[in-house]
Amino acid sequence: MLRSPRQLIIELAGTDILAPMLRAVGRGLVTIFTLHRFTDPEHGVIGLDPVALANQLAYLRRYRYRLLGLSEVVERITGRNGHSTSPAVVFTVDDGYGDFVRIGAPVFAEYDCPVTVFIPTGFLDGRLWLWWDRVTYLFANARRTSFFAPELGDRPYQWSTPEELARVQQYVLDALERVPAPQREAAIAALSGQLEVELPETPPAAYAPMSWDEVRKMARRGVTFGPHTVTHPILPLTPPDICKWEIEESYRRLRLETSSTVPVFCYPAGQARQRELQAVQAAGFSAAVTTIPGYAAPHGIRDWGALRRFALPRFPTTEDRPHLVNVVAGLARLRPRIRRPRPRK
Ligand SMILES: [Zn+2]
Repeated sequence: MLRSPRQLIIELAGTDILAPMLRAVGRGLVTIFTLHRFTDPEHGVIGLDPVALANQLAYLRRYRYRLLGLSEVVERITGRNGHSTSPAVVFTVDDGYGDFVRIGAPVFAEYDCPVTVFIPTGFLDGRLWLWWDRVTYLFANARRTSFFAPELGDRPYQWSTPEELARVQQYVLDALERVPAPQREAAIAALSGQLEVELPETPPAAYAPMSWDEVRKMARRGVTFGPHTVTHPILPLTPPDICKWEIEESYRRLRLETSSTVPVFCYPAGQARQRELQAVQAAGFSAAVTTIPGYAAPHGIRDWGALRRFALPRFPTTEDRPHLVNVVAGLARLRPRIRRPRPRK
């Protein structure tokens, strides 16, 4: 099969033979990765394969990338710490699911790699389960093969194969990400009725959070935590008082549960405008992260002036080595577009 020169470069980048050279190419870069779920067959979770994660961490250790904690990066960005030229990599995990404790954390510990977990505090407090999981659950357990809900458009949807079902489900997930929380809740309630599925009060094991006790247990092993709102709303779609409460209350609640809290906020779905950046600054944070792909070194951050450290970009992570190397060594700078993950979360 013929490969384009770019494909060849990307594939070659994943090989050990080029690693020392690529590390030199990546001088001065700071890459923050965002992860979500870890494959956990026992609990029915599909996510990042822990073996692939271990391979990636082994590669980064072998070629002496600096694996930093989020706080160190913030100090570096805000100029409170000296600059280093060796490329640095930071790992963050969003949403506080239980599979991090069971599957992800042991791998990070094995490679002595710092990691920060962003917590929607209402999720750990048992007040809610995350909305996209509820939608996924409804479709997985649907007793009907069609629905019509005015909250989700003006036409009925139906399916007869798993592929069609997956497409409809994805349509609903995408549509609901763009609406304010009350409207989304109404749509999910309508969907529950239409599909004849009752949502359990608390999330089933596959969608369950870690516990606060587990947070403290992880903290003793060096894991740090940052707030990710209380209920995981899309902040630019919330009224100002609710936006402020989501930011401040999650910070207060997290610090009450663990002293291993970093002063870094994480926007749900990475979405933030100037108002959110200002609210996070006013709440006393040192920085905040989005899911806009890019480098967290000064030149890679979108120019928000004094607010730029409240919009630090992060790269999605994937299981394949060439992708990892392309990002950490800076080859991603040469590509106009990086594959974006599902923008949810
Ligand atoms: Zn999230």
